This record gives sequence, C-alpha cells and structure tokens, in this order.
Amino acid sequence: MQNSKEFPVNRRALLKLIGTTAGSGMMYETMVAMGYAGTSDFNEPIKLSGDVKGASVLVLGAGLAGMTAAYELRRAGYKVQILEYNDRPGGRNWSLYGGDTYTELGGVTQHIEFDKGLYFNPGPWRIPYHHRGLLHYCKQFNVALESFNMVNYNAYVHSTRAFGGKPKRHREIAGDFDGYVGELLAKATSQDKLNGAITKDEKDGLLQILRFWGALDKNYEYKKSEMASNMRGFATDPGGGLAPLAVDSDPIPMQDLFKSGMWFSVIAGKIYEFQTPLFQPVGGMGMIGKAFGQQLTGAIKYNCKVTDIKQDEKGVTATYIDSKKGGVPQTAHADWCVCTIPATVLSQISMNVKGPMRTAINSLSYDAAYKVGLEFKRRFWEDDDGIYGGITYTDQPISNISYPSTDYHRKGGGVLLGGYIFSDSPTTYEFEALSPKDQIKAALDQGAKIHPQYPKEYKSGVGISWHRVPWTLGCSGRWTDENRAKNYNNMCAIDGRIVLAGEHVSRLPAWQEGAILSALDAIGRLHKRVLSA
Ligand SMILES: Cc1cc2nc3c(=O)[nH]c(=O)nc-3n(C[C@H](O)[C@H](O)[C@H](O)COP(=O)(O)OP(=O)(O)OC[C@H]3O[C@@H](n4cnc5c(N)ncnc54)[C@H](O)[C@@H]3O)c2cc1C
Repeated sequence: MQNSKEFPVNRRALLKLIGTTAGSGMMYETMVAMGYAGTSDFNEPIKLSGDVKGASVLVLGAGLAGMTAAYELRRAGYKVQILEYNDRPGGRNWSLYGGDTYTELGGVTQHIEFDKGLYFNPGPWRIPYHHRGLLHYCKQFNVALESFNMVNYNAYVHSTRAFGGKPKRHREIAGDFDGYVGELLAKATSQDKLNGAITKDEKDGLLQILRFWGALDKNYEYKKSEMASNMRGFATDPGGGLAPLAVDSDPIPMQDLFKSGMWFSVIAGKIYEFQTPLFQPVGGMGMIGKAFGQQLTGAIKYNCKVTDIKQDEKGVTATYIDSKKGGVPQTAHADWCVCTIPATVLSQISMNVKGPMRTAINSLSYDAAYKVGLEFKRRFWEDDDGIYGGITYTDQPISNISYPSTDYHRKGGGVLLGGYIFSDSPTTYEFEALSPKDQIKAALDQGAKIHPQYPKEYKSGVGISWHRVPWTLGCSGRWTDENRAKNYNNMCAIDGRIVLAGEHVSRLPAWQEGAILSALDAIGRLHKRVLSA
C-alpha cells in the first residue's frame, strides 16, 4: 500500500481532484438526476366529486399521463375519448419483445429478434420506492413487481484512463474509498483538527466509528487486512475442508484510486432516486401501459396522429389522420381537452391557445438519450463473472451496462442494456446520431473491453435514439431554472378549455411519476373549472 503521506490531501487538492476526474457520462447522468430530485407529493388516490352533468373530455396521447387522466375522469362520470398516435397504450412506457418492429424517424425499421421470454425497455426501466403514485396504480391494476437491482458490489467500474483500462469490481472501489476517507478523517480527528466541531468524548467516539466504517487497523490506517478484505473482497475466498486459507486482497493505492475518478460511480446508489428498493414490472416496463390500456378498453382510438387542435366557447375539436396509412383527416370533439402530447411534437401542431402557453411549449427543449439492447446466447455475466443484475459503469460513451434483474440462471441467453445515457452533452448527441446498426457495433466494441465474451456470445440487438422516436422527438423535457421561472406556470395554466399534462408539465421530469402527478394535478384543476362553468 502506498503511504498516505505521499498524497497531500488538503481541501483545495481534493476539490481539484474532483474537478479533474469528473468527466464521465455517468457523472453527468448522476448530476442531472440529482438536479431533478424531488419528492412525490402523492398521498392518496384522487377523488373528483360532484355532478359533471355529462361533460366530455378529449385526451390526446395514451402515455401514463393521458391514461391516468382518462381513467380518473371516467371514474368521476366524464365521457372520455383518447386519441393515440401508436397502435398500443403506454407511450414511453414501452418494452420490445421478439417479433416486434420499430420504425424511427427517417424510416429505418428494426425487427426485434429476441428469443421468447426476453425483452428490452427502450425507455423507463426502474421505479423508486417513493414514486407512490405510480406504485398505487401498479397495485390497483395488479401489475406484478420485482426488485430492480441498482447496486451490485460485484459489477464492474471501468475507466479507459486508469489501471491499464482493466475493470475493477464495485466492491473494491467502494471498500477502498471508504477506507481511505475514513483514514484521512481519523488523521484529522487525531491531530485535533476537528476541535470546536466535536468535544473530546465525541472525538473518541468518532474514531471508533471510523475504524469500523473504514475497516481501519488499530493505528487508524487502511491497509491490507482481513477487515479490509471483508469489505473489498478476498484475493482467495475461504473454502471448505482442506481448501487453503482465505488470502487477503491488496487495496488499490489511495492516489491511484482518487485520481481514477472511479469512486464517483459507487456513489450513484446513495442518491435519493436510486436508493433501494427499486422495482420493475415482471415481464417488462410496458406491462404498466398494457394494464392501464385494459382499464380503458374502448376509450382509446389508436393510430391517430393529431394534426390540429381548435377550441371555441363550446368545446375542443382535434383533427387527426391515420398515423400508418394517412388518408382523409377526421375530427373528434369534446367539451374539454387534456393534451399530453410531448412539447417537442406539440410545438409543431396548430392549436389556438394564448401566447403564454404557446411560448412555454416552444421554449422547452428535450434531452438526448440512447439505449442499446444486446441479446447474448449465454448468460456469461452470471456464469463467468458472478454478476446478477445491477449496473457496470464505464467512462466510454456507452456509460452503463445493466444486467437483467430477473430470470437468474435462466437456460439460454438474456438481454443486456448495452449502453445508456441521457443528457445534452456532445458525446450523447454523437452516439444518438449513429444509425441503430452502428450503435450496436459501438456498444459491442466498447462493452468487449469489460466483457471479452461479447463477440462470441452476441446474438441480436436494437438501438434507440430518442430524438428519432417519431412520437416524442427526445427523451424528456429539459427545464433550466431560468426557463422554469419564466414559462412553467404558463405551461400548467388552463387555457380556455385546454389543459396540458405529461412529465414535461411536472417538477419530476424524466420520471413516470412526474407524468402521473402532472395528470392528477391537471384534472383536479380542470374538474373545479367544469363544476364552476
Ligand atoms: C431513455 C429513458 C429512460 C427513462 N427512465 C425512466 C425510469 O427509469 N423510470 C421512470 O419512472 N421514468 C423514466 N423515464 C421517463 C418516463 O418514460 C416518462 O417520464 C413518462 O413515460 C412520460 O409519460 P407521458 O405520458 O408524459 O408521455 P408519453 O409516454 O410520451 O405519452 C405521450 C403520448 O402521446 C402520443 N402522441 C405523440 N404525438 C401525438 C400525436 N400527434 N397525436 C396523438 N398522439 C400523440 C405518444 O404516442 C405517446 O403515447 C425514462 C424516459 C426515457 C426516454
């Protein structure tokens, strides 16, 4: 082990270090997620009481926002019709299975070739335990949930710039990081640098805590030891019978660890949104959309591309064409309208709302995002690497490799998330701009640096660029603080007979919970307006 004295850690040095190592996509995603952090204010199911006197509502878009609005409005006695661009319910709540096809903007069609029983979530994939609105509807509609494994101590952390590009296990980085931070803090405590902040008694207590937390020795140093190996793993694991004794592993030298920047990746699971438990629906995220769709059988008209929305003092009329065949425009009419079409698309649709709402819609840009799904013939990550679910992080453009949190030891293969990031960084746009074929190739090349089994075991793949998804043209609304201050309230306000809803009209953008909360808020206000009209 390198002596800590060789690493002059003062605040400036540490901050500089953080600044210089903070370059990876993972870092960016995490910071973005932190910026979006917000508590769901869902407490109980909405109750829309009062006589709605046969009022009708046209809902545009059958994503989770549109279907939440439609479901609750129907329960309250409204006549509801939904117009949806796709031939299925769910919107971004979407899973791809073998036999499915997907055509992106520009006309490239991908035929999904996964084996039966396998799936890939191009959009949402994890549900935090505190997204209570979404969990409420999962329970209500009997959507079976299972654990989504967010943090796996045996998954990898990989940097092309550190340790000769060889991946390290999450537990090695996490154990050593805690160990060295513990040692540094113990040193500061012993040298009375915390005087004033803690009393003498507390100082002794803190040292005991640090010793346990950082697996430090009796001199409060983090060194190769059984205690440290209990955190970071052993070089040779203990065996049975006459097997050799366990062999302690060597910690990574502190300077190398801190400089690698890889420690950042092991912190992701501590962020509120990513704290365990997280969930996923059994059989794919799209199960939630399907369950909502079943509740709304007969109310959703599919393959309808809305092209024009007009309101007057009597009601709202939407003009639409068949999204697959085109043909003669048709119209649908109702007293009121809840529009959940993403702002990117809505900004291109004629709709007679007042200036402030139109400015708000036009002001909102959407984050870039891509996801690559890779099907392999064999579950080598389980068989060879001992990785069951969880995420490997890398500083390459693919950023994340996520292993299925389901069907462990399934005979045959599985589908990995072979690359994923959402942000507005140049790397994300560059990767998004690749054709699906080139995305799959890039994901295979980059992933093989961590899993050399890739070339031999690869079977089929799919690449999704969210700016080329025709019905969202982006991942999710990207509100800057400045734009939110200027335009957010105008986006939410009811304009005549029209109210907007969707993740982009929430304080939890890029989450399904945001879509649901936004719908509940919008229909709550609309209902009051209807009763008082
Ligand atoms: C890559 C990615 C990862 C994500 N990860 C997560 C996650 O892990 N967990 C999570 O909770 N959330 C996640 N999200 C966010 C989540 O998917 C969204 O916040 C949520 O699904 C949005 O729901 P919505 O109803 O607002 O919009 P949508 O689901 O987009 O619904 C809008 C509907 O409008 C329809 N439409 C569009 N144009 C027209 C038109 N002209 N006429 C008629 N209909 C039209 C669309 O087809 C669509 O069905 C992720 C999103 C992406 C893209």
